[in-house]
Amino acid sequence: METLNTTLLIIGGGPGGYVAGIRAGQLGVQTILVEGAQPGGTCLNIGCIPSKALIHAADEFCKARSYAAETSPLGITGSDPRIDLDRTVAWKDGIVKKLTGGVGALLKKNGVKLVNGWATILDGKTVEVTPEGSSEPTVRIRCEHMLLASGSVPVELPFMPFGGQVISSTEALSPDGVPERLVVVGAGYIGLELGTAYRKLGAQVTVVEAADRILPAYDADLVKPVASALARLGVELRLATSVLGMDDSDGQTRVRIRDASGVESLLDADRVLVAVGRKPATVGWGLENLMLDMDGRAIKVDNQCRTSMRNVWAIGDLAGEPMLAHRAMAQGEMVADIVSGKRRHFEPAAIPAVCFTDPEIVVVGMSPLDADKAGVEVITANFPFSANGRAMTIESTDGFVRVVARKSDHRIVGWQAVGGAVSELAAGFTQSIELGAQLEDIAGTIHAHPTLGEAVQEAALRALGHALHI
Ligand code: FAD
Ligand code: NAD
Repeated sequence: METLNTTLLIIGGGPGGYVAGIRAGQLGVQTILVEGAQPGGTCLNIGCIPSKALIHAADEFCKARSYAAETSPLGITGSDPRIDLDRTVAWKDGIVKKLTGGVGALLKKNGVKLVNGWATILDGKTVEVTPEGSSEPTVRIRCEHMLLASGSVPVELPFMPFGGQVISSTEALSPDGVPERLVVVGAGYIGLELGTAYRKLGAQVTVVEAADRILPAYDADLVKPVASALARLGVELRLATSVLGMDDSDGQTRVRIRDASGVESLLDADRVLVAVGRKPATVGWGLENLMLDMDGRAIKVDNQCRTSMRNVWAIGDLAGEPMLAHRAMAQGEMVADIVSGKRRHFEPAAIPAVCFTDPEIVVVGMSPLDADKAGVEVITANFPFSANGRAMTIESTDGFVRVVARKSDHRIVGWQAVGGAVSELAAGFTQSIELGAQLEDIAGTIHAHPTLGEAVQEAALRALGHALHI
């Protein structure tokens, strides 16, 4: 077996691991990254990027169908749009290939050695790597610092394991056809992003959610426009409903459910997408040998991403919520800095979250409810997109921007928005919080016309009591 020695060993080449690798390489830290599948991890291969590609394709198809149905107020008509799903998937795969190839090239450019294979931890300084498809390890790597970045895996329902008709987001992102009837379990990020896309591609979609509303992590006002849009699209919601199991005794797959009043029923399904959360990937690669302190299912880390073992670090989904790519990247960059000798802490003022439903949702910092719970006295104000010219021109007036600021000094502590294309507002929201902006700063900044950004300025103006366009 080949033996390699390195300063930094990174296990997992997702957004957390590969960014840590690039940064460590830039800083001259000798680095090896071990990846069992493709560089880019969940995000680039089977998560963020392919899901957004499928959502875009579904949007375009849905738009074309509205032209054919002559329902578009724009006066555009067309006839008989079709979708060749093989080409759609090939297009999506092309984007993934370009991006994952780019990650490989960036690692190489920065002098990071990429070892393909699955790492098994022997101790806090040593791993063995087994190539995919092989039963024997071929490389042993010894390191000074070990960075754990193995990501997460979908949660499986014990009575409805993945396989056959029951799929996870991974299979849903490489469809071989559009199922006639899709049952989605879970109205969270994945269930609603992909459920909406499948509906737009032509499937009959029923979403079963245990909580009494969709996207239970967000406040009720914020999800209202999404719920209305789902109703208009014809997505059926079964809220406050439990999934009990599957029934396919006569060859027809059915999902057994029970509603809040205890009534049981069956939903016919050609596919069942289970999207009830993800859990840190902690099993099957010798992690237990390190006996690290845990925080629930995640590895416990401090504000430098140090685990309970010296020079063993953990980042990204493996280190728990929020399981978002940009948080993993920020942690990875920071750990590389620290390993190179810099003084850093992971203490962002806010981490943005975007849900790519239609309309989209952006959440940064505190909601009014969060502020209330934290005992912070705040001023909040909404500006509706129905009063924004740009929103009208892109046919997306259902939604609003909301600002949350401390009453005492007008310092902005949170932004929320729901509306078409609002994901692009996330950067400005996060910058304003990170830079400690006050309402007056945003209200006094000239925002380009006509843009959705004007609703951001107007929300701040409204909080100060003098909105101009409402
Ligand atoms: P991962 O990206 O999971 O990478 C971990 C890597 O480690 C994998 O490549 C895996 O093969 C490798 N690995 C694991 N164990 C070993 C081992 N023993 N040896 C070698 N390699 C190993 N987040 C967003 O911010 N925005 C989005 O729009 C978004 N959309 C998503 C859509 C879907 C459908 C899904 C599933 C997730 C989405 N996410 C999104 C979440 C995002 O993908 C994750 O938060 C992010 O990928 C976490 O990065 P990571 O580096 O921690 O882990
Ligand atoms: P999620 O936590 O967003 O949603 C899971 C939903 O399933 C919740 O609403 C929950 O109440 C419901 N649920 C749980 N058990 C259930 C059951 N037995 N029956 C019915 N409903 C049940 O999880 P997800 O959608 O699987 O996504 C996983 C993670 O991936 C997210 O938390 C997020 O971190 C990440 N992600 C992010 C994005 C994005 O940033 N745009 C997109 C997709 C995924």
